[in-house]
Amino acid sequence: MEEFDIENVRARWVLDSRGNPTVEAEVFAGDIVGKAIVPSGASKGKREAVELRDGEKAFHGKGVSKAVGNINKIIAPAIKGMDVREQAAIDKKMIEIDGTENKSNLGANAILAVSLACARAASAAANKPLYEYLGDGKLLPVPFMNVINGGEHAGNELAIQEHMIAPVGAATFREAVQMCSEVYQTMKELIKNRYGKNGINVGDEGGFAPPLKSSEEAFEIILDAIEENGYGNKIKLAIDSAATSFYENGFYHMQGKLSTDDLLNFYEDIAGKYPIILMEDPFAEDDWDGFVAITERLGNKIQIVGDDIFVTNKKLLEKGIERRAANALLLKPNQIGTLTESIEVAHYSFKNGYGVMVSHRSGDTCDSFISDLAVALATGKIKSGAPCRAERTEKYNRLMRIEEELGEKARYGIS
Ligand code: PEP
Ligand code: MG
Repeated sequence: MEEFDIENVRARWVLDSRGNPTVEAEVFAGDIVGKAIVPSGASKGKREAVELRDGEKAFHGKGVSKAVGNINKIIAPAIKGMDVREQAAIDKKMIEIDGTENKSNLGANAILAVSLACARAASAAANKPLYEYLGDGKLLPVPFMNVINGGEHAGNELAIQEHMIAPVGAATFREAVQMCSEVYQTMKELIKNRYGKNGINVGDEGGFAPPLKSSEEAFEIILDAIEENGYGNKIKLAIDSAATSFYENGFYHMQGKLSTDDLLNFYEDIAGKYPIILMEDPFAEDDWDGFVAITERLGNKIQIVGDDIFVTNKKLLEKGIERRAANALLLKPNQIGTLTESIEVAHYSFKNGYGVMVSHRSGDTCDSFISDLAVALATGKIKSGAPCRAERTEKYNRLMRIEEELGEKARYGIS
């Protein structure tokens, strides 16, 4: 056995932020251990790599004992003896053993947990922080903080899932976090005064979930709070409609029944009224025409980000680039299932003039891998929910530590 050869891999279930089980893996190589926990989405794209759940009585069907077993009994013996620094070879091996297009045999949750744990172990082997091991980026991303939750992440009537603030005018990442925290706390007071105490309950991603009927109401609260803190145009707005979740039989069910054209007009209207710089999943995952139309209409001034439509999958992104659907990719490693493929699709996106926003999932943990990934790839954009709830703030806290470590070399901004 060589110094960095994998000696063992161990997996277990732990709980995510929604209280559901998820997969944690540990990889042992010599004196080194790498650990990672995978997150879990709620508003998932149907073409995402498969998150393997037991479907039995335990945890109301959400148990992950099969995925854990696949790591301990199948993946562990298969990658034992491989050099933990050989990320591409390890990921390729797991893809081969799985043998499916969508990782449904072993489960993307099993494969990704091992993939990320190997990267952590390898960065320790190289004696480098993870962000430095993964790439040469020095850019701290603009945090897109989801301060008002709707859709499948909250118990209110808002169709649009995420209403985000983007502190593009901050000088540093730390200042960006402070600005968002202050605005968030002001919003709490405003919402309490306007909607009562029940309004300040928070949704899955830590944003408030007041009983609002329209996204315009949400923007007004946010803009009032930005104004009250004197941040003026230093903070811009963004949304993730997660439109697949309110699309049925050819219509979008939000504030009435809208066609693709009606919804496009709505977006054009709010883009004119509010300082919105980014719209994610404005249309449903199969509504390619909607994506093409909005990119043509608004794409020169707004980033149009594809989440459910691309699911971090290079083949789908290729189709998007060919058709000019969206102009940016949402990067969620658990949608594709390995680190190698995640990095590859990000590079492919940049190469073709598309932006990249790294993202958490609505069910997440205090694992902050995506923070290091965003810096390494210099994406300039990350979203990890509100400045509230430990699984959300840990990603931002990690980025502040990275900024400190990079010192003079650190830059901050959108790209
Ligand atoms: C999203 O839709 O961008 C998101 C983070 O939500 P989920 O994890 O539920 O897909
Ligand atoms: Mg989304």
